[in-house]
Amino acid sequence: MHEHDVIVVGAGGAGLRAAIAAEEEGADVALVSKLHPVRSHTGAAEGGINAALREGDSWEDHAYDTMKGSDYLGDAPAVETLCQQSPDEVIKLEHWGMAFSRDDDGRMSQRPFGGLSFPRTTYAGAETGHHLLHTMYQQVVKRGITVYDEWYVTQLAVTDEDDPESRRCYGCVAYDIQSGDLDGFVASEGVVLATGGPGQVYDHTTNAVANTGDGPAMAYRAGVPLEDMEFIQFHPTTLPSTGVLITEGVRGEGGILYNSEGERFMFERGYANNAGELASRDVVSRAELTEINNGRGMEDDYVHLDMRHLGEERISDRLENIIHLATDFEGVNPLEKPMPVKPGQHYAMGGIEVDENGETAVSGLYAAGECACVSVHGSNRLGGNALPELIIFGARAGWHAAGREMQPAGIETGPAASMGSEDLDTPVEPGAIAPRTESGDIAADGGTRADGDARADGGTGAQVMGAAETVEHAVETERERITAMLEKEGGVKQATIRSRLQKAMTRNVNVFRTEDGLNQALRDIREAREAYADVSVADPSRTFNTDLIHTIETRNLLDLAEAITLGALARTEFRGAHWREAHQERKDDEWIKHTMLAWNDGEPELYYKPVVLEGENKTYEPKERSY
Ligand SMILES: Cc1cc2nc3c(=O)[nH]c(=O)nc-3n(C[C@H](O)[C@H](O)[C@H](O)COP(=O)(O)OP(=O)(O)OC[C@H]3O[C@@H](n4cnc5c(N)ncnc54)[C@H](O)[C@@H]3O)c2cc1C
Repeated sequence: MHEHDVIVVGAGGAGLRAAIAAEEEGADVALVSKLHPVRSHTGAAEGGINAALREGDSWEDHAYDTMKGSDYLGDAPAVETLCQQSPDEVIKLEHWGMAFSRDDDGRMSQRPFGGLSFPRTTYAGAETGHHLLHTMYQQVVKRGITVYDEWYVTQLAVTDEDDPESRRCYGCVAYDIQSGDLDGFVASEGVVLATGGPGQVYDHTTNAVANTGDGPAMAYRAGVPLEDMEFIQFHPTTLPSTGVLITEGVRGEGGILYNSEGERFMFERGYANNAGELASRDVVSRAELTEINNGRGMEDDYVHLDMRHLGEERISDRLENIIHLATDFEGVNPLEKPMPVKPGQHYAMGGIEVDENGETAVSGLYAAGECACVSVHGSNRLGGNALPELIIFGARAGWHAAGREMQPAGIETGPAASMGSEDLDTPVEPGAIAPRTESGDIAADGGTRADGDARADGGTGAQVMGAAETVEHAVETERERITAMLEKEGGVKQATIRSRLQKAMTRNVNVFRTEDGLNQALRDIREAREAYADVSVADPSRTFNTDLIHTIETRNLLDLAEAITLGALARTEFRGAHWREAHQERKDDEWIKHTMLAWNDGEPELYYKPVVLEGENKTYEPKERSY
């Protein structure tokens, strides 16, 4: 058993910043990560970090752009915190040694990005995330923070009172990938989840294989609601054969999109008469797919992104990485030819419900980064707004978990709290939340009521345990579950289930969504859940058993795919990244509200909570969103 004040699960941008913050507060902190920190997916971030650093720009303009980009589903106080604190956090990174690109006068370079009214995206070539990770990892090493890398967290250790808000998280259980041992981690102050996005729910994604949404799935099953899961961002410029991202920075520097008729369609077909290629991502993705669906794509599959006119010197200086990515992954040298691009899954706007201090509904459990929903992106994230979110809300979660008094930023949570509010008492569409079939319910946790069940008697009402006992009990439950998986013969392999799930999501829960398609996706997901009840692990060995890890991850993907689809089915409007064929308007009277999903003993329960449009000095009145 390992004991620390604060345990941070995940060592990407959010986890590293949370760990540094907890250490700044004097806590004994440890990072537990399934990957080595600098292999975390933040390292793939290319384009940059938004911060209002220059004369002529302001945090207020950044906040306005972000609220507009969110299609008025972001919470204004959190958005304002993001925009106010981003300049200081970016300068802190610079003081820690981050190698930002520079203008000739020595100032940090900034470039235009989609949906921004000012060129405020600060960058380090087209490898911003790589530099960010290395800079913060150096701080972790310098401060002597303990890192358990290649430890895969399989479960949280949470007490299991009936009311999730009375539960307490005391730590987690992790599988040491190298030795094959399962061990407990006790956190006397708090656990911070920073496990990144769930991109592997889809088969065409810019996300790494490790992005399986483990944190949100574990938190959800332990009783923490998920928020706004239906809002998935599809990035307009991914390479068709692999999903590898071509940064928005290419369009920021002047890259142009063409259809097969040689038209600069963003302008010529009237999709965004002012911003053109630099409209918000949801707008550009829909435009590309409309062109392709109307027969004006190349090979019925993609459009062209051309940056040759920028010249080799500028491209090499600011976008060198793109030359390598397009050449290595698509066989196209972008200095000589336009790059083929199409929309691909990129980012989850939703996640674990948290307040501005990273607190969840379960005490002692915090979350930050892409796995969390604070909510600053609402229904559509602006490019360059995720990296500031990691460092700002990662730091706040770390400080708070380590005991710093923070400004209260309470969340009103739980179905009871929200459904009581008159205007939110909207009945959920019939069929949208159809209960699962019994066989579709996965009892792979040994039949406990929730994954976090830690009552001494497994749920019959005996005394709630203390920290060490709770963690020990969770370790034992996990040991039994994993042993059963390893010893099971026959059964279905996770790869079959995962692939079926990913295809169902890509086919029917994509940029364009229909009622029939979403219902079909829900049936496919539930069939896949049924199949998972019979899952087995092909590789019986203990060490470096990636098949075992993928099997556990696949369960997480199933729960999150269902959450995304349920939210999408219920939301009968078109807002941000969520387009519905039969509901072509944004319905502000009915739908300015966050979608919440509670685990409710394994039966997903949908409810809503208000969006906060009132900022410090102004209210962000919803306006038509055009670019
Ligand atoms: C290709 C690409 C380019 C992007 N470019 C930009 C950009 O230019 N600007 C911008 O603002 N945003 C960008 N984004 C978005 C942004 O990079 C991500 O949202 C962000 O990096 C996520 O950081 P994170 O710390 O939340 O998660 P990650 O960096 O994904 O880290 C997750 C961590 O959790 C660990 N982990 C996960 N599950 C477990 C488990 N079960 N047990 C133990 N450890 C676990 C992993 O090992 C990893 O250390 C980009 C995203 C992609 C995919």
